Amino acid sequence: MAQHDPGLAALVDGYHQFREDIWPERRKLFEVLARDGQHPRALVIACSDSRVDPAMVFNAKPGELFIIRNVANLVPPYEPDGEYHGTSAALEFAVRVLEVPRIIILGHAMCGGVHALLNGFPSTAQDFVAPWMRIANSARARALACDPVDAQTACEEETVKLSLRNLVTFPWVAERVAEGRLSLHGGSFDIRTGVLSMLGDDGNFHPA
Ligand SMILES: [Zn+2]
Repeated sequence: MAQHDPGLAALVDGYHQFREDIWPERRKLFEVLARDGQHPRALVIACSDSRVDPAMVFNAKPGELFIIRNVANLVPPYEPDGEYHGTSAALEFAVRVLEVPRIIILGHAMCGGVHALLNGFPSTAQDFVAPWMRIANSARARALACDPVDAQTACEEETVKLSLRNLVTFPWVAERVAEGRLSLHGGSFDIRTGVLSMLGDDGNFHPA
């Protein structure tokens, strides 16, 4: 099959390269991870955008980051209603089962989800993307309220802050934060410059 699909063949070639070059070095690490289980040092909630790979940004090895990726790095509010909540399910696993000590919401520049939130959704993204992005309606309103020079960046930053606020609507997140067992952080990766900025106590993002 692969020979008829150059794109897939390139991916399988990449796998073979991984087996030859990377696996021998990583084998010991994977043996330990398989034996002792995972104890990630952080949960990162990032955008699905192919240009924002948290493991690359933080130069993290396998086992170090538990990663949730979705459209526009959004955390929905706590809604235990029996529906299909993929992001909340992964969040629950990371916090209550793995007991991660910190959560980082990682936004990014040129986010397509945020762009659509500001400028309208394409007709081909109405079934799920548009309703999903409703989570960020208040972030959009906050960003536009201060009449920003750069609405896109303002809204990207507001989505990170919104996700941080929504995190503490989950009672088992709030409880751990209050007890000092869990810390929450915001960041944003600029894909144009490769610069990571972290949200400071002053409410602004600063280069890390
Ligand atoms: Zn994005």
